[in-house]
Amino acid sequence: MKSGLISIIIPSYNEANNIELLYKSLNKEFSGIDYDYEILFVNDGSTDDTLLVIKRLANAVPNVKYISFTRNFGKEMAIWAGFQHVKGDAVIVMDADLQHPCCLIKPFIKGYEEGYHQVIAQRNRKGDNRIRSFLSSLYYCAINRIVEVDIRDGAGDFRLLSRKAVDALLMLNEGNRFSKGLFSWIGMDQKIIYYDNVVRKNGNSKWSFSNLLNYGIDGIVSFNNRPLRMCFYTGAFILLASLIYIFVNLIIIMNKGIVEPGYFTTISAVLFLGGIQLVSLGVIGEYIGRIYYETKKRPHYLIHETNVESGEGNANTEPGIHKIHRSWDH
Ligand code: UDP
Ligand code: MG
Repeated sequence: MKSGLISIIIPSYNEANNIELLYKSLNKEFSGIDYDYEILFVNDGSTDDTLLVIKRLANAVPNVKYISFTRNFGKEMAIWAGFQHVKGDAVIVMDADLQHPCCLIKPFIKGYEEGYHQVIAQRNRKGDNRIRSFLSSLYYCAINRIVEVDIRDGAGDFRLLSRKAVDALLMLNEGNRFSKGLFSWIGMDQKIIYYDNVVRKNGNSKWSFSNLLNYGIDGIVSFNNRPLRMCFYTGAFILLASLIYIFVNLIIIMNKGIVEPGYFTTISAVLFLGGIQLVSLGVIGEYIGRIYYETKKRPHYLIHETNVESGEGNANTEPGIHKIHRSWDH
């Protein structure tokens, strides 16, 4: 059996009603586990009492740490900040909303002891909105054909990572983070644990349809340049088709003269090409937008307050900037 410290990173945004319940379940779970543990709540600019509840807990219990952002920077940044500030030999990432069952922690640790660097919880879609589930499965089917890394439907951030895996992730300093892809990109031995989906009881999901759409685009664009290439191929195909069309029509005109003004074909061609051009411009714009944000090199997030002492974890401890890290600023 291994020993050491397990760190749990919990991104929290407006989860005031869930924090204490989650802490109690975690505490209960760890009472039967021979590892030390620390819990790091990352308050992602909540507008309710989340920070208050976390601070109350942190004052009462020494192994509860927190980082509080100056505003909402998004879950990806909360996880990234977590990785930079924990010091565990293994790190678990889980949601604050009780949708990630604490009873999986024992199987996680078992997987870790067996030598796996990533032990991944994969949920089914029981109880989920049917349309959302259907669209998600279509999306995962498409994305796995497009991107080079393997992205599983139902396998999200809820997982245990060994220190080696966390250190590898810390090397991926990009601002526009798509964790699912990054977890897959680092590779290493992985074990999957299946579990039944849990429906959220308190608070609301922060994912609106447009959030999900943007996340979906991030997933595709962050991991390859195939969409750009698709634009090139579509353009090339249409160019070739139109050259053949022009050539054939020229021959007909030379033989028979102009038969009809061809209103329909002209309009169709203009609309079709206009559409393709706009889509292509949009795709190029997605990439340029990302280059634009990455070149700004803004901090990834700003910390308003924390009880993690500087020097703990992997945080940058240079004087004056220990609370500021690079980030993608949405
Ligand atoms: N979250 C966050 N920042 C955000 C949105 C969400 O830290 O901007 C946290 C949230 O508090 C929860 C986790 O990320 O702990 C998952 O969020 P949510 O339940 O809304 O996502 P879903 O389970 O619907 O995918
Ligand atoms: Mg949730």
